[in-house]
Amino acid sequence: MILKPKGTYDIYGDTAKYYNYINEVFKTVCEYYNYEYIRTPIFEDSELFHRSVGETSDIVSKETYDFKDRGDRNLTLRPEGTAGVVRSFIENKMYGDVCQPKKFYYSGTMYRYERPQAGRYRELSQIGVEVLGSNSPLMDAEVISLAYRLLEEMGIEVTVKINTLGDQESRNAYREALVSYLEPNIDSLCSDCKKRLTTNPLRILDCKVDKDNEVLINAPKITDYLNEESKTRFDKVLEYLTYLDVDYEVDASIVRGLDYYNHTVFELVADIPSLGSATTVCAGGRYNNLVSFLGGPDTPGIGFASGVDRLIHVLQEINSEKEIEPAIDVYVMAVNEEEKLTALRLVQDLRWSEVKCEMDTLDKGLKAQFKQADRYNARTLIILNSEDLQKGIITVKDNLTKEETKVDESEILDYIISNL
Ligand code: ATP
Ligand code: MG
Repeated sequence: MILKPKGTYDIYGDTAKYYNYINEVFKTVCEYYNYEYIRTPIFEDSELFHRSVGETSDIVSKETYDFKDRGDRNLTLRPEGTAGVVRSFIENKMYGDVCQPKKFYYSGTMYRYERPQAGRYRELSQIGVEVLGSNSPLMDAEVISLAYRLLEEMGIEVTVKINTLGDQESRNAYREALVSYLEPNIDSLCSDCKKRLTTNPLRILDCKVDKDNEVLINAPKITDYLNEESKTRFDKVLEYLTYLDVDYEVDASIVRGLDYYNHTVFELVADIPSLGSATTVCAGGRYNNLVSFLGGPDTPGIGFASGVDRLIHVLQEINSEKEIEPAIDVYVMAVNEEEKLTALRLVQDLRWSEVKCEMDTLDKGLKAQFKQADRYNARTLIILNSEDLQKGIITVKDNLTKEETKVDESEILDYIISNL
């Protein structure tokens, strides 16, 4: 037997129901917010991720699936969604479109070579949005509240942890202060952090190994190094979030693992004990330099991504008592060839009238078909029988009240639809 690759999993049964549910709610919400769907390739030129996500990020330095194709091209399975959307925005010159800003939503699989554990896979699904062309704090508020309300719609209670990295000037000032603070304490940090001190010191604050280290807990905070402009901008975002009743907490430890962020960064955290209490289910931020960095015109951007696999876990946890049972509207019973022929046509007509229905295709007897209908939780049974059919009559049985009704064959569709 050939088994699935490590870190992957099959989505079927209840998991598939949650998977579809999440995607459907996401699509509906995004359409109301006037976001348009975008789909970019699952593999891209390796350089795209190395440049945008950053060589020193965990994702690129340890987690990418890189390969050469038969034409000797360096390709990478996408580890995240933003880089591809930005590449597409530039390549297709969408900055020239009359409707700006461009607001996108996407859904798809990402690939990261991580150590598999609960809620952490090598093939993962993300839903996300990217907005290109608006630097307004109003847009920060829109994107964050979209994520917040989306999770609320699914019944997931979250807190928004928010921080700002400020503009380049603020970030540089902070970087300097952080390095001088960390240098004398570097021995107490992990080996990755020792390297990060020179390559990317801000990333140290995001370290999963050192996260409870006193040194990091007492580190200087970016908020003390913001210039006036960055501070005013951040205060505006917070003001709008308060106004929109979004439950947030300013958290200086949120720096995000990717290189391209500036200004607002945020994570939405759910309290799920089985996943290690505070679980990040959604994360994002502003990336005003990414488009120009990748060769496009200077264009601000902001977005978030949410891990669908983690959302499925969370939903399963929240709904653990409530089993999802299969249910259909109608089960059509037929035994002999004449009855089966009528059934075949009837289920097709019902299905195209948006009635979820089923019939037997395993040559089961009548008794077994009744059982099957119960297993499907069919609300209504249509019982076909040759004698009645010759008179143009069909028996309909309410499977809950057990009440039977004879219906004229020509009126069966209307009858079922109006009695659903
Ligand atoms: P983490 O700190 O948990 O590694 P991250 O910073 O790498 O997260 P992002 O790149 O921001 O995560 O991805 C956004 C969301 O995607 C995360 O909040 C999480 O829900 C989900 N996610 C990230 N990595 C995985 C994974 N390996 N398997 C499943 N979901 C994941
Ligand atoms: Mg990660």
